[in-house]
Amino acid sequence: MQGRLKFWGWGLESEVLRPEEVSTLEATHAHRFGIAAFDVTPAPRAEEIRLRAPRVTPPVSLREVCSTDHYQRLLHSYGRSFFDSARIFARDFANPPDVVAFPRDEREIVAVLDWCDSVNAVAIPWGGGSSVVGGVEPPRTDRHVVTIDLKHLGRVLEIDRTSQAARIQGGTYGPALESQLKPSGLTLRHFPQSFEFSTLGGWIATRSGGHYATLYTHIDDFVESLRVVTPAGTLESFRLPGSGAGPSPDRLFIGSEGILGIITEAWMRLRPRPTFRAATSARFKEFYQAAECVRAISQSHLYPANTRLLDAGEALVNGAGDGRHSILVLTFESADRPQEANLQRALEIVRANGGEYDERALNTDGAQRQGAAGQWRDSFLRMPYYREVLTPRGIIADTFETSITWDRFPGFHAKVKAETERAIEDVTGKKGVVTCRFTHVYPDGPAPYFSFHALGDKRRLVEQCWEIKIAASEVLNALGGTITHHHAVGRDHRRWYDKQRPDLFAGALRAAKKSLDPRGILNPGVLVDALA
Ligand SMILES: Cc1cc2nc3c(=O)[nH]c(=O)nc-3n(C[C@H](O)[C@H](O)[C@H](O)COP(=O)(O)OP(=O)(O)OC[C@H]3O[C@@H](n4cnc5c(N)ncnc54)[C@H](O)[C@@H]3O)c2cc1C
Repeated sequence: MQGRLKFWGWGLESEVLRPEEVSTLEATHAHRFGIAAFDVTPAPRAEEIRLRAPRVTPPVSLREVCSTDHYQRLLHSYGRSFFDSARIFARDFANPPDVVAFPRDEREIVAVLDWCDSVNAVAIPWGGGSSVVGGVEPPRTDRHVVTIDLKHLGRVLEIDRTSQAARIQGGTYGPALESQLKPSGLTLRHFPQSFEFSTLGGWIATRSGGHYATLYTHIDDFVESLRVVTPAGTLESFRLPGSGAGPSPDRLFIGSEGILGIITEAWMRLRPRPTFRAATSARFKEFYQAAECVRAISQSHLYPANTRLLDAGEALVNGAGDGRHSILVLTFESADRPQEANLQRALEIVRANGGEYDERALNTDGAQRQGAAGQWRDSFLRMPYYREVLTPRGIIADTFETSITWDRFPGFHAKVKAETERAIEDVTGKKGVVTCRFTHVYPDGPAPYFSFHALGDKRRLVEQCWEIKIAASEVLNALGGTITHHHAVGRDHRRWYDKQRPDLFAGALRAAKKSLDPRGILNPGVLVDALA
């Protein structure tokens, strides 16, 4: 990675939004909330923040691997959620990790875990720190906290071209992973929006969702085998294309969010880079009519790479629509054959469901760079930077994502949207904006992703956003949606995850934790409570 990461925002210190992007965002939100100008809190500087002194000193044998540097402790204090951003701009760094470890290999990971065990410290595995659910933040505890940053485990170690798979280290960031695979002509083709600043180990530990909307949606689908260092020892699963031998050991660690062990390596399934593409966008007068169309496409088993449905509000904000129509971005990709026929069949379904498509944006010779689809793509790539402009202006900008079966979708969507809008008005005294898009779709249901914007009170942003999030999560949970489709559970979603998972399963997970991490070192408070 070229350059230093911002401890107060997204990406590198050298990467910020251009002045014209900032003024457009400001103008949109000033108009939306009926205010003339914003009072802007400057981004914090590292020198102005005082941190609690480290409560523990690493042993001499680990001095080369461990840091108590001020900037490193700031950077590792938070993930990248709205709550994190609000606390960062409020200069609230009350609970930093004591030490940040940067092990270079498994032997050093074992040594750091052994040291944590010997001083009863908490150990937090850290990939890119892009968690938006409180997954990497030090828990409020009297125990010392050591964050284990895996950035030195950043290599593709081996490529098996025959089976189309690669052995990749857990701390490998998205761009480094793809650039090391590139000479082979193969790709993992897993692109979460956070791709640039998140890692393979983080994706596996959180069951992340990639950019592609159907078929291979989650990282789970690409894991062939895993190697994991746990406090009880190191384990490795067999490399297999499939297996019926009991519950899958891989599945125990996929989604384990750093509570059972540190994923140091994985054999990942690859595929040839796609060369054939066909893409366009369609528009619909009515959102539920568009959703019906997406249902028909998902049940046609055409498996488009993208069927991203944006409601009218979402399309407008991202410059992809006129604010009156829902927009459906459709893309087909293949490394093997032209995709026009699939696109044409999907467009027949669009027409049959009352949609119109944009002739000018039909693109069969490359990526989706034109029309509404192209506009959406550009906006999607800039979006992660918006928060560091909005938070200092007192705008609560957050998202939550879920999934639900098609039979329940319309009632579910209407109620969740209405309850979130009501909560925003109750909490802030002003109307907010709640929009929805589908990030992924399955033959049995969509994964709706809600975004909301509200004008908050800068002194109470965290509290206000929590009140809104609680209202939304309560209704979503009561109506049977999952508390997360791909952002993970972390600490923030615990209360709803606990209601969603069967109690007997929770007991089995605690038993697994007790067996692999008997002293409860790893990421306490995430997924399960501290061990009794
Ligand atoms: C702007 C933005 C966009 C995002 N877009 C997406 C998206 O499109 N799809 C999506 O799924 N998520 C998305 N996220 C959420 C986040 O990027 C994912 O959860 C991602 O998988 C986290 O990867 P990471 O390497 O940053 O992990 P971290 O944030 O460092 O860690 C996440 C969790 O995994 C654990 N962990 C990390 N590495 C390891 C390891 N090697 N072994 C064991 N445990 C480990 C941590 O302890 C923590 O509990 C987004 C976040 C942001 C800020």
